[in-house]
This record gives sequence, structure tokens and C-alpha cells, in this order.
Amino acid sequence: MLRDIPATVSEVFSIGANARCIRLKTGQAMPFAPGQFMMIRCEMKEDGDFKIRDGKKPVQQRAFSVSSSPLNTEYLELTVKPIENAFFSDYLVRKVGAGHPFFISGPFGHFFYTDEMQDIVLLGAGSGIAPLIGIMRYIRDKRLAAKAHLIYSNKTEQDILWRKEIEELSEGNISHLFTLTQQQWEGMMGRIDAAMIREHVHDATLFFLCGPMPFVQEMEKILATEFHVPKERVKKEIYD
Ligand SMILES: Cc1cc2nc3c(=O)[nH]c(=O)nc-3n(C[C@H](O)[C@H](O)[C@H](O)COP(=O)(O)OP(=O)(O)OC[C@H]3O[C@@H](n4cnc5c(N)ncnc54)[C@H](O)[C@@H]3O)c2cc1C
Repeated sequence: MLRDIPATVSEVFSIGANARCIRLKTGQAMPFAPGQFMMIRCEMKEDGDFKIRDGKKPVQQRAFSVSSSPLNTEYLELTVKPIENAFFSDYLVRKVGAGHPFFISGPFGHFFYTDEMQDIVLLGAGSGIAPLIGIMRYIRDKRLAAKAHLIYSNKTEQDILWRKEIEELSEGNISHLFTLTQQQWEGMMGRIDAAMIREHVHDATLFFLCGPMPFVQEMEKILATEFHVPKERVKKEIYD
């Protein structure tokens, strides 16, 4: 694990409703496994439409999954979607541009993919796509034979992050299903439930769950009660 490695933003772009991709160049290589997270720290700068309230300190640190593949040594990528009434994540999407300095520590976490894993199912909601797309990119880049099936839930079509790339990634052993919970469309609709999993998931040896606490808890419950999946075959990352 490396501590306080200086990094600079090399690129920022929009990837869906109120969400940004932030790419960082680090002062030195930061090895990580696909799916792991880093602690990202910076000094937030106030301006006309960003003020730090309630006596909070300008230097803040939060956990962010790495959404790039570890095989990509050009940059370390974050996928940021602010929660409601956000602070640090709001600053990241509205105020951070190329050249902004950060300090990064990591990698952290047990939510990661290793090359021996076969037939994985990725269940994600909202910004929970971040480590999952990192895993999918890694499987593609390393040309691994593992099957990876993503079921990704969002409120509306606008909220689907990395949509085009997920569609492009989906060929051969990688596949996906988008589902929307608050908008009519031609695709799958409704929350991820037992019936959806039964219909779209076959031969799963390992499940990766990522998103807000209620989502991850719901998925865990469905896998345990409806499919009797043992705990050891379920990996989870909760964005609380
Ligand atoms: C392992 C892990 C990985 C994660 N990976 C990701 C990821 O890949 N992508 C992602 O998007 N998120 C990720 N998260 C979530 C992320 O770390 C933050 O928790 C999330 O972005 C919310 O942080 P925040 O500062 O915006 O909100 P909070 O820390 O919850 O702060 C919100 C609070 O600050 C107050 N506030 C709002 N504005 C201001 C202001 N200007 N001044 C003072 N106070 C204010 C609000 O009233 C509210 O009470 C991850 C979390 C974990 C645990």
C-alpha cells in the first residue's frame, strides 16, 4: 500500500447525468487489483459557487473505486456521481479540472477480481458501476476466458454511466443487461429481483455487488434466500 502519492488531473469529462470521469496521473506507479479503491485527498478551493460551510476543513478525503483497468498504466480513473446534498463529490464533479492536485493512498479493499475467477456476475447500481467496469475492462484487456455478466440498475436512461463502452465491451464472454426503475423504455424495467436474476444469470460462481447500502443489502438477501448462494461466493462494496 502506498501513502500520499501526489497526483494531477489529466482529463475530466461527463459520463451521464451529473456524473464525471476524472483521470489522474500519479507521481509513481500505483499497482492495484481490478475492483479495488483508493483514498483521494485534496484541498478544496472556494469560489463564487462553491463555499465550505459549517466549519468543515478544506482538506477532505474520500474512498473512490478505480474504474480503469490495472493494465492501463497511463492514468488512474475515477467515476464520480454525487449523492444528494453532496460535499466532496459535488466539488469533484463541479470544480475539478485538468491540473487539479490530489494525494492518493492505496490500494484498499477485498472487492477485487483475480485471474482464476470464472463465470462472474456483476450486480451494480448508479456509481457502483465504477469497480465493475474496471473488472470488465481488465478481463477484456487481458483476454481472459472468464464469463462476466453485468446487470446494471439505474433510475433513468440518462443515469446509465459508461453506457456506450459497456455496450462495446459486450461480446463473446462479456455481456450486460441494463434495467431502469423510474423510466419507461424499450429495455428491461424494474429493480433487480429474483426473477430477473433467474432469467439472465447462468453458471455463476461468484457475485460482485456494488452500490448504495440498500441496493447491496437487497441483492445479498435475494442471493441468500432465493438462490442459496453461500457468503463466500458473494463479494460486496458498499458506497455509504
Ligand atoms: C469503498 C468505497 C468506494 C467508493 N467509490 C466511489 C466511486 O467510485 N464513485 C462515487 O461516486 N462514490 C464512491 N464512493 C462514495 C464516496 O466515497 C463518498 O462517500 C460519496 O461521494 C459522498 O461523499 P460526499 O463528501 O459528497 O458526501 P458526505 O461525506 O456524505 O457529505 C455530505 C454532507 O456534507 C454537507 N455539505 C454539503 N455541501 C457542503 C459544503 N459546501 N460545505 C460543508 N458541508 C457541506 C451536506 O449537508 C451533508 O451533510 C465510495 C465509497 C466507498 C466506501
